[in-house]
Amino acid sequence: MKVVIIGGGVAGLAAAYELLGRGHEVALYEASPEFGGQVRTFEIGGGRLEIFYHHLFRSDTDAVAMIEELGLGDDLAWIDSNVGLHAAGKNYPFVGPVDLLKFDRVSLITRVRLGLTALWLRRFKDWKQYEGKRASAWIRSRVGREGYERVWGPLLRAKFGEHAEDVSLVWFWGKIHLRFASRQGGRLGGLLAKEQLGYLRGSFGRLMDALVAANRARGGTLEAGVPVERVLIEDGRAVGVVLGGARAGEEVRADAVLATTPSPLFQRIVPGLADLGPEGAAYARLLESVQYQWATVMVLALDRQLSPIYWLTMTDDDAPFVVAVEQSNFMPPSTYGGAHVLYLSDYMSPGDPMVEMTAEQLLDLYEPWIRRINPAFERSWVTGTWLYRDRAGQPVVHSRYHETIPPHRTPVPGLYLANTTQVYPEDRGQNYSIRMGRRVARLIEDDRAGQRPG
Ligand SMILES: Cc1cc2nc3c(=O)[nH]c(=O)nc-3n(C[C@H](O)[C@H](O)[C@H](O)COP(=O)(O)OP(=O)(O)OC[C@H]3O[C@@H](n4cnc5c(N)ncnc54)[C@H](O)[C@@H]3O)c2cc1C
Repeated sequence: MKVVIIGGGVAGLAAAYELLGRGHEVALYEASPEFGGQVRTFEIGGGRLEIFYHHLFRSDTDAVAMIEELGLGDDLAWIDSNVGLHAAGKNYPFVGPVDLLKFDRVSLITRVRLGLTALWLRRFKDWKQYEGKRASAWIRSRVGREGYERVWGPLLRAKFGEHAEDVSLVWFWGKIHLRFASRQGGRLGGLLAKEQLGYLRGSFGRLMDALVAANRARGGTLEAGVPVERVLIEDGRAVGVVLGGARAGEEVRADAVLATTPSPLFQRIVPGLADLGPEGAAYARLLESVQYQWATVMVLALDRQLSPIYWLTMTDDDAPFVVAVEQSNFMPPSTYGGAHVLYLSDYMSPGDPMVEMTAEQLLDLYEPWIRRINPAFERSWVTGTWLYRDRAGQPVVHSRYHETIPPHRTPVPGLYLANTTQVYPEDRGQNYSIRMGRRVARLIEDDRAGQRPG
């Protein structure tokens, strides 16, 4: 069987790896000049850095297995988590339950309620019960108004903007449950155990490189800088793709086509999907119902440390970024030629004027807030600035989201979709894209073996 894969992010690369390992032929096309998608890297001080901050949790077993399978296991470092919250001009380390008790932004009773709620979610496994429920109402009922307004509410608002009130309780459960599940040992359901975060020395770009190299060694054709213009459909079946860009008009024929692009881009390369009978129209409606928040991530190279915390979540409602990730508190500055590396990240709704701002304009907006993290901060500390955006940064997982997830099998026989909207109940992450890519590869094989029409 020959499969064309559209997109060379981690999902497409993992699907190719699985298909090639099972003896199939693969041609993969990536529109950007490089592979990696949201895990792309760039050079900084002679080192490599992800455009968007990345780490793994201990629960990311599929990603760890892939890293080991590709011979990179020895370079996967597990580092004690060093996270904190910023509130009203103060940085609070937030590593264990003692830190929660010291969080004087809320009353003692609220601190206890926050801790007990985290414990409850850690132990609760039956997430299906939470479908259709809103995280905001549930959190308020558990931790009270103060706990919601001072801790979880601002975070939901920062990530999901106007959708915050309607975010699914399943999404919130997933975040807390998996986070605690990744803590090893310790009493009180892992609450007392130390969290560790995983990082591939030299960047996760090395995982992308290793996947590309392994796929080529297995005989796959992988091309970057080659966009797919549209999926070729004949007699109602996907029979290949038509390439775009410099290869415009070139046809590549295949037995099946797997797209790993965000849903709006998928619709663009499958024109007329909605006209393919009632099933086509229903599938198109599912694709259209997906809403994404833009991810906007500014990377700063600094000539000194900003704070000792790796991951600092901003809880003030008017903060213009939701998290400050000081990568050089995770990997030493020597990795980046001595630079201290800081990510400032925000999620925005598509209409937000901030999605149009230049790096300079954003930095003007961010500067007073960087100074709140460290009052000594001066613009002269900044030795480099980069700005990265992804309009499909975060699918909005609202309370009825589970009713709107498009299946991997599309109504066009031979055409499949695997993107970050379909990893529910988990949230987007390399682990789930790898798992999904491999699973959909097997699904395509099974369909072909059974000659199922699609
Ligand atoms: C801000 C941010 C922080 C994150 N932090 C973490 C983290 O800490 N840990 C973690 O594990 N994960 C993290 N993730 C998530 C992780 O990066 C994603 O889940 C994963 O990379 C998604 O992979 P994908 O292959 O599904 O999609 P993508 O990476 O989006 O890949 C899709 C690819 O399709 C290509 N494409 C689109 N249209 C076409 C076309 N017409 N023809 C050819 N190619 C096309 C695109 O160029 C792209 O490369 C983060 C993501 C973001 C945005």
